[in-house]
Amino acid sequence: MSDFPKLFIPGPTHVSDDILESLSTPQIGHRTPEISELINYLVKGIQDILYTKNDIYLTSFAATGLWELGTKNSVNKGILHAVNGAFSSKWALSSELNGFNSTRIDFKWGDGVCVEQVDKLLSTGNFDVFAMVHNETSTGAMSNLDDISLLLKEKYPEVIWLVDAVSSMAGVKIKVDNLGIDFLLSSTQKAWGLPAGFSICSVSNRLLEISKKIKNKGYFLDLHTYKKYFLKNQTPTTPSIPHMFALKKMIQKIYNEGIENRWNRHIEMANYTRKWVENHGQKFFTNENALSYTLTCIDNVKKWDIDEINDKLLNLGYRMDRGYGKFKGKAFRIPHMGNIYMSDLKDYLNIFDKVLNK
Ligand code: PLP
Repeated sequence: MSDFPKLFIPGPTHVSDDILESLSTPQIGHRTPEISELINYLVKGIQDILYTKNDIYLTSFAATGLWELGTKNSVNKGILHAVNGAFSSKWALSSELNGFNSTRIDFKWGDGVCVEQVDKLLSTGNFDVFAMVHNETSTGAMSNLDDISLLLKEKYPEVIWLVDAVSSMAGVKIKVDNLGIDFLLSSTQKAWGLPAGFSICSVSNRLLEISKKIKNKGYFLDLHTYKKYFLKNQTPTTPSIPHMFALKKMIQKIYNEGIENRWNRHIEMANYTRKWVENHGQKFFTNENALSYTLTCIDNVKKWDIDEINDKLLNLGYRMDRGYGKFKGKAFRIPHMGNIYMSDLKDYLNIFDKVLNK
């Protein structure tokens, strides 16, 4: 057994040995033809995985920074934030602290984003930007992007749509161009299955056009700083080159698995976990019409002693999730994404069963 427990938390997720190895590839210069070749490969791979022709910017910082990259380059009149969990709430806070004219629509935590309520608020005409989290990692609620896309296309085509896909990108099919998402963001420590500290976003041309007219964005969070270097297959600042080699390896693995097969694997693992939950007489914390494909959040109605299970699983080499923040012990989560395959999930749930039966 490794000295380090295998991670069954919803981020950072388990990083497989081949990815760990690729992180130790020797460094290359960040203004060389080699890096441009690498970045070109990454951009094309990510465009395939996101079904988009949009620009792809690679940033060596956490996804939280991309929230502000998105808002600083889009908000003129006002931003509407759908809030249905801890991360969407923090993103709304970031807009409030930035001084934007910002409004929250609050949904019950565990519910998905309700399109009718979004419609009601957008109809006021007070907003030129709408922001939401696709997959609320804190509650396991995955919202329906098709419904929102339809609403925006039919009634609010001028509204810029920002989507946090931190725990769904590379685990769930998101067809960026068909949906019309202007800004889709993620960091790499969830369904991408890499270490944290590196992020990815796709950016539409119309968002770039709007950004041009916004003043006082500074340098580091101006999309056009990224655009300038994107055109040369470079990044504005010295990037985390180990992440880039690891991302290349991951994209190769995704091609080898097959992109559609990857989405199906995540759905199959979600279904397997949901059956396990039901077979144990537990309930879903998440509304059943918003269950995520990448993690399952369980309402601990059986009052299992989560701390005791945690200690036992740790002794057996697994780091479990005990629930996000205020839900600790009450709503724990089982992640099934990235480098976790059906056999890993079955092994984990079998061991979990052994701990329960002791
Ligand atoms: N958004 C969601 C949905 C998340 O789950 C997380 C982290 O768990 C974040 C944003 C923040 O990501 P980062 O830590 O890369 O800033």
